[in-house]
Amino acid sequence: MPDEPIIDCHVHPDPVDLPEGLIREANRLGVTQLIVASLGRSWDYEPSHEHCVRGNRDTLALVDRYGGMVLGWAYVNPRFEDEAEAEVRWCVEEAGFVGIKLWVSALASESCVGRMIDLSVELRVPVLMHAWHKATGNLPLESTPQMLAGLAQAKPRARIIMAHVGGDWQLGSRAAEGSPLLVDTSGSIVENGMIEETVARLGAHRVLFGSDAAGVDLATALAKITAAEIPHEARRRILYDNVVELLSWRRQAA
Ligand SMILES: [Zn+2]
Repeated sequence: MPDEPIIDCHVHPDPVDLPEGLIREANRLGVTQLIVASLGRSWDYEPSHEHCVRGNRDTLALVDRYGGMVLGWAYVNPRFEDEAEAEVRWCVEEAGFVGIKLWVSALASESCVGRMIDLSVELRVPVLMHAWHKATGNLPLESTPQMLAGLAQAKPRARIIMAHVGGDWQLGSRAAEGSPLLVDTSGSIVENGMIEETVARLGAHRVLFGSDAAGVDLATALAKITAAEIPHEARRRILYDNVVELLSWRRQAA
């Protein structure tokens, strides 16, 4: 196992706590930090603002409980524009959250999402946004990789991480190619060549390790990176350096 630090940028509680088994597994595998987003206490594609706020308080409790091992993403439904902005500001400025998590409640092409991205630039924090391309059809407000690429092109100063390399990673990495999007490797897809081709297409500086634990097995997700046929330098970037660089943005002078 690698003896250098590893940060998993995409973790969800289940639904309030991090399972004991996940913490044990992280320690065993040398995953030193988990960046956690609560999606609230129930599965809700178009959550109320209060649902997101409760989730963020659950995340904060985890940050407090696990000390430096757990960091938080602020989860909001951008549809509630003013309330969502106030919640993000509180999470980042008062509670030390490291960025914004957006899921499937608004399309990347909508102006309310653009507003959250502008806010992320003002606060100098990254945005972790879900994207997928489903052969069976997306949820009504689930963004495609192309939509995220369009958003990133329109907001070139933002640091947007497209989760799951866009779900369909071939299509996702191609969509990201002509944009400033970053990608994370999280999710259930373990196809041969995913990491190697994504790194070849985007460069290792744009790829971040994420698991999507607790729903996805952490060891399997990590092995996608540790076992990939990529240079050691690229592996270090994906497992650690890129996230550290992203998180240092907030500490830089405006
Ligand atoms: Zn996720």
